[in-house]
Amino acid sequence: MRDLSADHGLEHLSLNTATVRKQGDFLEILEAAKRHGISCVSPWRDQVQAVGVERAAKALRDGGFRLSGYCRGGMFAADAMHRAAERDDNRRAVDEAAALGAPCLVLVVGGLPQFSRPGSVASHDIAGARKQVEEGIAALLDHANAAGVALAIEPLHPMYAADRACVNTLRQALDICDRLDADGARRLGLAVDVYHVWWDPEVFAQIARAGERIHAFHVCDWLVPTRDMLLDRGMMGDGVIEIGKLRAAVEATGFSGPCEVEILSEAWWSRPIDEVLSTMIERYRTVC
Ligand code: ZN
Repeated sequence: MRDLSADHGLEHLSLNTATVRKQGDFLEILEAAKRHGISCVSPWRDQVQAVGVERAAKALRDGGFRLSGYCRGGMFAADAMHRAAERDDNRRAVDEAAALGAPCLVLVVGGLPQFSRPGSVASHDIAGARKQVEEGIAALLDHANAAGVALAIEPLHPMYAADRACVNTLRQALDICDRLDADGARRLGLAVDVYHVWWDPEVFAQIARAGERIHAFHVCDWLVPTRDMLLDRGMMGDGVIEIGKLRAAVEATGFSGPCEVEILSEAWWSRPIDEVLSTMIERYRTVC
């Protein structure tokens, strides 16, 4: 297991740009990252689009940044009227990831059609949504392979099953990988986010099962109480997740990518960007 306390150059840290999304636009976030010695980021699609993909790509190149992923594609479940738009949108997400130099596109797969693709006919059929998710990933794989972008399914905590992701455990995500890419040649894999998987009694067995399929590792913390289902994630060390133990398990599979800090939090969004980044770096070295 890597010793992050000795990582003075922040070689193994990545900033997921959603962590400071309210404090500046994408270019301002890159400048702040640079000030703090952070050289790896994982951009969100809406933040990139707000400044334009070409400008974002140039700023990343000029700043010498590496990427740990691109967030996000997915939201596969849709009714027949919205299916073509979903397919197009996901192919564009792959193209943007390739243009920015991201190694993988993180897939938040979507829940029921009316929440994944608003305007879709309402449905209560979660099994049907899961089938559509798998079909959507299968339909995207050729395009992703041609672009050289790996697809990383991110299982989300089950509290998001209706509106954000009906793939809720590592086992479910790995079963999809096994069905669509049995030998791993198509590089279909996972994003393991401690916030979503820490509670799972099978988490360590499934991380071991994942082996080389892990493309990204996201960290933050689970606060007790959690006051908002989406926007109350904790800074590492402020909650109850055994982050170090999970990181050790992920690294034991051979994963050598960065520890990506992704904190969606109204509380942290209301603080100055330099305070958030310096706290994050300190916790990265002492907690992760
Ligand atoms: Zn995540």
